[in-house]
Amino acid sequence: MAKKHNDYVDLKEKPIPEGRHLLEVDDLKMFFHTEDGIVHAVNGVSYTLDRGETLGVVGESGSGKSVTAMTLMGLIDMPPGKIEGGNAYYRGESLLEMTEEQMQHIRGNDIAMIFQDPMTSLNPVYKIGRQLGEGLRLHRGYTKKQALERSIELLRLVGIPNPEKRVNEYPHQFSGGMRQRVMIAMALACDPDILIADEPTTALDVTIQAQIIELMQEMQQKNGNAIIMITHDLGVVADMADKIMVMYAGRPVEFGTADEIFYESRHPYTWGLIRSIPEQAIDEKKPLTPIHGNPPSLVNLPSGCPFAPRCPYAVDVCHEKEPEHITTETGHYSACHFADDPAFLKFAPDTSRSRGKIATGTPDTLATSAEGSEA
Ligand code: SF4
Repeated sequence: MAKKHNDYVDLKEKPIPEGRHLLEVDDLKMFFHTEDGIVHAVNGVSYTLDRGETLGVVGESGSGKSVTAMTLMGLIDMPPGKIEGGNAYYRGESLLEMTEEQMQHIRGNDIAMIFQDPMTSLNPVYKIGRQLGEGLRLHRGYTKKQALERSIELLRLVGIPNPEKRVNEYPHQFSGGMRQRVMIAMALACDPDILIADEPTTALDVTIQAQIIELMQEMQQKNGNAIIMITHDLGVVADMADKIMVMYAGRPVEFGTADEIFYESRHPYTWGLIRSIPEQAIDEKKPLTPIHGNPPSLVNLPSGCPFAPRCPYAVDVCHEKEPEHITTETGHYSACHFADDPAFLKFAPDTSRSRGKIATGTPDTLATSAEGSEA
């Protein structure tokens, strides 16, 4: 039954039109118009996402991963931001054409985001229960008592011991891992269709990282929600993503299933990310290889392939002509001039030995030993 609050019909109760997807991002372009020039922050991003699926979005800082998500959520100030092309549809409805009032209902209720740093995302002067219950009162019309009861239930769900007591505590009374769990509880409060997790484990140690990722997967199995996992670390999404989009300089440079990205990658930037995973370096019996240089300025993009100044395989054509997406029959694409050249693809890292082993960077033993400990 469609739930109504303030005359708003909950979009997640609306059936997805036939032939459409839960989320469709179609050639999205969003640029910032600044005094220094035009920042090409999101430049031609496309993907689809269905319920129960996980998409990993991977790239270095400044590659456009978070800005793409924030554009979908209507969290970018326009101006200086401006949609320059493309669209994004949630259950067939354009997110970009919604009013701010409609977006306020979507955010938290239909599409929720877990931010990187729980300490700055939680308000230090309000008790955890109040912050958890806010969305429920706003989107679901819960009374104060109902919101408190549900907050206790949510804290229990994300593995916080003694939730009846902790719901009345302040963020500083929680450890880093526990605060991140609170953020997950907050994001899950209204049972969103899509959970966007922006580097949710970056500030946490490797043991807690594994617990948080496991928790998100458990929640997904229970609720069937879709997850967009944004990270700079390919290893984090290795065993949780169904498909992966690798971004560089505001654009997707490779897209495919997790297996295609790890074991049949066709882009030198992805090769660099794979060679930066410690476990992979061990398996290749080579030292950890960093990607030299820095990402380009999004105001003054180099001509040709944006990765050319850092690419060890760049030749003249790379500096002259921007590569198009070369797509395989399965939809795996790569923005490299040589993505379909078998001789070139021999330079790819040998991931055969690490099949099934590259994971969250956390050995099973660590994850097991951490069970029951206060994260
Ligand atoms: Fe490297 Fe050239 Fe491919 Fe760009 S097009 S990734 S510079 S080989």
